[in-house]
This record gives sequence, C-alpha cells and structure tokens, in this order.
Amino acid sequence: MKLARRAQGIGASPTLAMNARAKEMKKQGIDILSFTVGEPDFDTPEHIAEAGITAIREGFTRYTPAAGIPELKEAICVKLKRENGLDYDPADVVVSNGAKHAIYNALQALIDEGDEVIIPAPYWVSYTEMVKLNGGVPVVVPTRAEDGFKLTPSSLKAAITPRTKAIFINSPNNPTGAVYSRAELEALAEILVAHGIVIIADEVYEKLLYDGATFTSVAALGPEVKDLTVTINGVSKTYAMTGWRIGYAAAPRELAQAMANIQSHATSNPNSIAQKAAVAALMGPQEPVRRMLDEFARRRERMVAGINALPGFKCRKPEGAFYIFADVSELFGRTLRGQKITGSVSLAELLLVEAHVAVVPGAAFGDDRYVRFSYATSMASIEKGLVRLKEVLAEVR
Ligand code: GLU
Repeated sequence: MKLARRAQGIGASPTLAMNARAKEMKKQGIDILSFTVGEPDFDTPEHIAEAGITAIREGFTRYTPAAGIPELKEAICVKLKRENGLDYDPADVVVSNGAKHAIYNALQALIDEGDEVIIPAPYWVSYTEMVKLNGGVPVVVPTRAEDGFKLTPSSLKAAITPRTKAIFINSPNNPTGAVYSRAELEALAEILVAHGIVIIADEVYEKLLYDGATFTSVAALGPEVKDLTVTINGVSKTYAMTGWRIGYAAAPRELAQAMANIQSHATSNPNSIAQKAAVAALMGPQEPVRRMLDEFARRRERMVAGINALPGFKCRKPEGAFYIFADVSELFGRTLRGQKITGSVSLAELLLVEAHVAVVPGAAFGDDRYVRFSYATSMASIEKGLVRLKEVLAEVR
C-alpha cells in the first residue's frame, strides 16, 4: 500500500514512544525507572473523579455539542478571567480531546500549504510534526541556554518572512522549563503584531511555577495581541488528568468557529464524562493543585542537584513545568561498556539498556546536546534512578 506523503515522513511521538518502550520492558519484568513522559504520577483528585462517576450514574453519556458543553465553556471563561485576566465569551472557546488536539485544530484552521510557522527550539516534539501534517513549514529558531532558552526579539525578526503565518510560544516551556516574563513577551508581541503573525500560546504548564516565577498569559498583553492569539490550555497537567483528554482553545471568534467546525467533522465532541469532571476541576477547590506543586518543587530540587552531580551532565534550574533538560554533550565521543556515545539518541539508548533508566533524547526536542528527564515521577524512583545513573556513568571512558 502506498501511504500519503504526509504519513511517510512521520514517526510516533518520541515522548509517547519512549514511555511505551519503558512500560513494555517493565512488563517483561525489567525494573525500568522511567523519566520519559510528562504525566503527573498522582491520582486525579477525588472530587474531580467523583464528578465523572456522577456523570456516568446520571447517564450523561451521549453526544454533547461538538465544541463542548455550555457549562464547561462557561467554566473555562470564568477560569480565564479569574486567573489570566482574559475576557472570552463561551462562543470563543472550543473544548477538545486534550490540548494537543486543540493545537492541531488551530493549525488545521490556520495553515495553508507552504505557510511558515516559527518554532523556538528546544520545542515540544509534536509542534514540528503537526505543522508538517497540516502542509506548513516549521521554521525552527534555536534559543541559547545563556538566554534562559528564550527567543530573543532579534532572532525572531531574523526568522520572519512574507510566508510567516504563526508562531508557537510555550511558557512555561517543555522541555526547558523556561518562563517568559511579561516584558519579554511584550517585546516579542510588538514584532508579531506589526507583522500580523498569529500566536499559538501553549499555556498548559501555567500552574507549574517555582521560586516565585510569575506567569503571564500572552493574550493578556493587550487587545491587539489578543486578536492574534489562540490560547491553548487543558486540565491534564494541572489536575493530574492526562487520561481524561480534555484541553481547550480560546481564540478570536472566527478562528474558534472554524476550529469547532473542523472538530465537528473529525471527532465530534470530547468525552462527555470527562467534560463534567473538567468542570469540577476548574470550579472546585484548588488545594490539590498546590499540594502537587509542592511535591514537584521538592523533586525539582533533588533532580537538579542529583543531575548536576553526574559526570558529564549539567542542567540549569528550570523555572516551570516538570522537566529537566540536561546538557550531556561532554559525553559525546566517549565510550560506555565498549559502546560509543555519539549523540542524545545513543546515550538515551545506553542509559535504558545499561542503567534501566529511561529518558527522552534531546534530538526529539530540536537539540541533540541534551536529554530530557520528567520529574513527574515519585521521589523513590528519582533517588533510585540517580544512584543507578551514577554507578553506570562512572564507567564512561
Ligand atoms: N506532553 C507530554 C510530554 O512531553 C506528554 C506526552 C506527549 O504528548 O508528548 O511528555
């Protein structure tokens, strides 16, 4: 069978693939410590799960409006006002099967063949692939560790062409944890507004902030910016709800309507039960979020110290999200148990096979000098993983 060209160049998402591989090895009885996927290890808070159970009991199991139930869209508007200072009407909101799906819908509605989309690197693995799947051209713009992995106005300007249609701004960033300040966002937004470039603001890690870092929603910078922005968020990371698959977009009316129409043909509504649970998440007590954040903060301290103590590894302290992006380039060209370390992919492979520690190679995020650790995993696994890495890395020659 001859597959479509768009399918020929695409592989599985490396984060999900690495996670699946770690799970498969575990099933075979190998004690793998997985630092792969960004998925909180906590249970969904009780009151949220209960709302889902109630929805099933009450028979809330049929089609809903394709773009989401009015109650959830209303709750999203309340949340965006309360926490982000944003005024959206429920008609500007589209609820989707996870934030990933919301991004896909946005690209479907925005990108014509050959349109360029600026993606600051390191980036989340699916941005480039989703742009390509929609006929667009990813324009990857590297950032530097010295700049806190943030896009600078001058490198933004240099990347803009007459074909530039949109840009991804992901703060807090996956995989670097970088958080843009309001002033930094303003400097970028000024350029983007001048060129009429659409901003896809992926804000899914907004609650995961450390050491007093503050979060600014891109659309809150002003009406001109808001008119060009599609705000993406979801309940997965904040409320430990990855499997429920509820994300959302808030966008200028015309774009939201187009996204809703596209979704109505592609998937119909997101899961009815999960939508009820998401209402409970957004409108219910926020205490569980704080508790999870406190635990992530503890792990972050331990991970940063532990990783920096490993031979050949160095990392900065991320201000947000739950990842550590560690520079491992010092190890390239050296050998471990007779095998040469040639880059992030070969190092990740060696760590998996020799230390039974699973990480995601930086190459998947657009920078081969790094590997990504997710610390959305228990402290016990973190301690054990650091010990194993230390032992195995001591053998690097
Ligand atoms: N976004 C998470 C990660 O980067 C979940 C997996 C995925 O969809 O990539 O690990």
